[in-house]
Parts: sequence; structure tokens; C-alpha cells
Amino acid sequence: MQQLNGKIALITGGGSGIGRETAVLFAQHGATIAIADLDPDGGQETVQMIRDAGGTAVFIQTDVSQAAQVENMVNVVVAEYGRLDIAFNNAGIEGAPVRTIDVTEAEFDQIMAVNAKGVWLCLKYEIPQMLLQGGGTIINTASVAGLIGAHSMPAYAASKHAVVGLTRTAAVEYARKGIRVNAVCPAIIRTPMVERAIAQLPKLEQGAIMNNPSRRLGDPHEVAQAVLWLASDASSFTTGATLTVDGGLTAQ
Ligand code: NAD
Repeated sequence: MQQLNGKIALITGGGSGIGRETAVLFAQHGATIAIADLDPDGGQETVQMIRDAGGTAVFIQTDVSQAAQVENMVNVVVAEYGRLDIAFNNAGIEGAPVRTIDVTEAEFDQIMAVNAKGVWLCLKYEIPQMLLQGGGTIINTASVAGLIGAHSMPAYAASKHAVVGLTRTAAVEYARKGIRVNAVCPAIIRTPMVERAIAQLPKLEQGAIMNNPSRRLGDPHEVAQAVLWLASDASSFTTGATLTVDGGLTAQ
């Protein structure tokens, strides 16, 4: 069954990893897709994957940390497709693995700008359009690092806790307006982001596997399925939730 038939969906960070996997799954479920990403090559590649499978997609080059670009992103979606039903605010960066006292000010600011401010800017420009239409659904990518501490990822953990706070606040503010806002909280998922981190710190992989009750890393399609549920009417009474996709990591 196609769960998103006729819906217009925007995916930030759709040029790679979790965003790409989710965009492709959304398209398989009948959604028309807008991919926003900083990286034009990855973004265009996802668009081509969706078109090759018979779907409809456009690419909008966007830096989610820049207000004018996020405003433009939403305007382009509406100009192209007439509305915005689903927004998956997923773009994010990880930063180098360093302890709290070793993060530079520039790195802290950069991670917060993309991961935390970026999600706030997306909400700021997406919600008015959804209010105009009378509803919509938003999913923000937080992380298990938005729920618990993350060794050697202090700025990342701060930024993802901020995503959880933004999600809950927007959910409370707009529940009566037909707009649902939820967060997905993955543990370590095998994506290009994680491959980069493992390349920098090889022991990360085995450590993550041994620390997880399921004794493995996650796969992007497992996150995409959770996001699909949050995006669809199947989750109609769920808002302000933080849905873990973590193999049991945070249940320990
Ligand atoms: P990825 O690096 O494979 O993909 C991230 C995408 O975001 C890339 O295409 C990149 O170009 C884009 N991007 C980066 N900065 C951007 C910006 N300023 N504006 C627009 N696009 C930008 O990473 P992924 O693993 O697919 O991560 C996706 C999201 O999931 C991120 O928010 C990440 O923090 C989160 N997450 C990932 C994991 C994991 O283990 N992979 C776990 C928990 C949460």
C-alpha cells in the first residue's frame, strides 16, 4: 500500500545516507519529492534515483544554516508543487571526535549552526506554509545523542538535544493547527557520515557494536521506515515524540 499518495515531501540532507534512503522510500510510497542539500552532486544523484524509478523529484541547493536559503527552499517547493505536506529536517554534520575541553569555538558554532539553528530555520519557514494549508507533518532528525550524552561529541550532543527541544516545543504550539512535529533518534547507522567517523577513529565501530544490545549498527532503511510512519497518517495521534531507532541502546 502506498502510504504517501499525492503528498509533497521536502527532505533536507537528502543527498546522502538517511535522507536519501528516506526520500527514495517516500517516492516509492507515492510522494512527490524535493531534495535540499548543500552538496549538488549528492542531491542531483538522489533526484536521478527517484526519477529512474518513475517518481517525481527536484533538487534545491540549500545551506540549512542560512535563513535566506531556507526561506528560498520552502518558496521553491511551493512554487514548484503548490504546497508542502511533509518536511523531513534531516541535514546534519558530526564534527571531529574530541572531548568537551578540546572543541574549538569555531567548531562548536558550526555544528550548532547546521544541526540546531538549521532545524529551527526549517521550522520557521515550513510551519507558516503548513498553517496556510491547514496542516502538515514534520520530522526532525535528532539522535540518541539528543537523549543521552555522547562521548567525544559534545557539540553534536548539544545540538541534538536542541533538536529535541525544538521538536517538543513546536509540537505543543501547533498541535491544534493540524501540524505534527516529531523527532527520530537513531543510534549509529551505517551511512557516509559514520564511515567518515570510523575512518578517523577505527575502534568506534567495534565499540558501538559491543555497546548495543542488538550487537550491530543500524541500516539507513531502518530509520527511513520509522520516518515513513511518522510522516504518514498512520501516526495521526503522535506528536512531540522522540522515536528511537537504536537497537535498544537507550533502553539499557
Ligand atoms: P550523511 O553525511 O550521509 O548525510 C548528511 C547530508 O546532509 C549530506 O548530504 C550533506 O551534504 C548534507 N548537509 C550537511 N550540511 C548541510 C547544510 N548545512 N545544509 C544542507 N545540507 C547539509 O549523514 P547521515 O548519517 O545520513 O545523517 C543524516 C542525519 O542523521 C544527520 O542529522 C545526523 O546527525 C543524523 N544521525 C545520523 C546517525 C548515524 O549514525 N548516521 C545517527 C543519529 C543521527
